[in-house]
Amino acid sequence: MKYKIRRLIANIVGWILVIIYMPLEKRKAFSGKYITCIYFHDPGTSIFEKCIKWLKKKGFNFISTEEVIKITKGESKVIPGSIWITFDDGWLNNLKIVPIAQRYDVPINIFIATDSIEKTGYFWWTLARKYQAQLPDEYRDNINLLWKIDNLKKMEIINKLIDKVSPKMEREAINIKELVEISKIPQVTIGSHTVYHSIIPNCNPEEMKDELKISKEKLEQWINKPVTSFSYPNGDFNGKEKPVFIESGYDLAVTSVQRYYEPLKDDPFYIPRFCTSENSGLSVNICKMFGIWGRFFKG
Ligand SMILES: [Zn+2]
Repeated sequence: MKYKIRRLIANIVGWILVIIYMPLEKRKAFSGKYITCIYFHDPGTSIFEKCIKWLKKKGFNFISTEEVIKITKGESKVIPGSIWITFDDGWLNNLKIVPIAQRYDVPINIFIATDSIEKTGYFWWTLARKYQAQLPDEYRDNINLLWKIDNLKKMEIINKLIDKVSPKMEREAINIKELVEISKIPQVTIGSHTVYHSIIPNCNPEEMKDELKISKEKLEQWINKPVTSFSYPNGDFNGKEKPVFIESGYDLAVTSVQRYYEPLKDDPFYIPRFCTSENSGLSVNICKMFGIWGRFFKG
């Protein structure tokens, strides 16, 4: 009940903010200077379709990764009202999103953490959450610490947890066969989201290289297409990734810095993106997709 009331209030506040601020944001988004990059994780089909319908109705233009790369390289100009839709991780439910993208002819980029789809079928943080009581004390009491500590240490904790509990997890990630299938759909581009969904600033230089390179190689081998886009897990970067991206043949990388992407100014290996809110209604999501919500509220 409490949740329902909160959701309702958020919705009303969302529409008020849309009415007040959206005309200004729309002018900015249609100035021909910016690309509005948006990311989802595991949205329901209903909220995703609502967002797409609303953006279409308002005249926004959905562009593909290929077009973003061309613009980034200065080979083509920004189409006013350009929207680039991306998904992080490789959730099983993304398979239900793909037909919607096809139906509305909306290009989407799905960034894959390869180990989860190749081996485990789940993501390390859901495992940690499910078996939180079995974690060492300091992490049991503050599970968010796992996102902040040294990557090797985190891997050790997760591997020990796996040994201890022999996890029984429902599959939450797509598998290789499904990945190969969706990669053939014209609206879908596949990008890398590392191998182990490691937080890049927590990695040593060797691990960072491996995360960027091995994930790319694996994906390319599976889908038999070049993979040149990357998404930083949790949006976190340390600024030392660029030479590795260039050396490995990446064209762009996306963060979760909440602002518009300005191709003539911004570094293509640190592209900002607006987040969405999968448990909220349309109005909150509109506010999030254009950075309005975050100016007033946290989370
Ligand atoms: Zn992620």
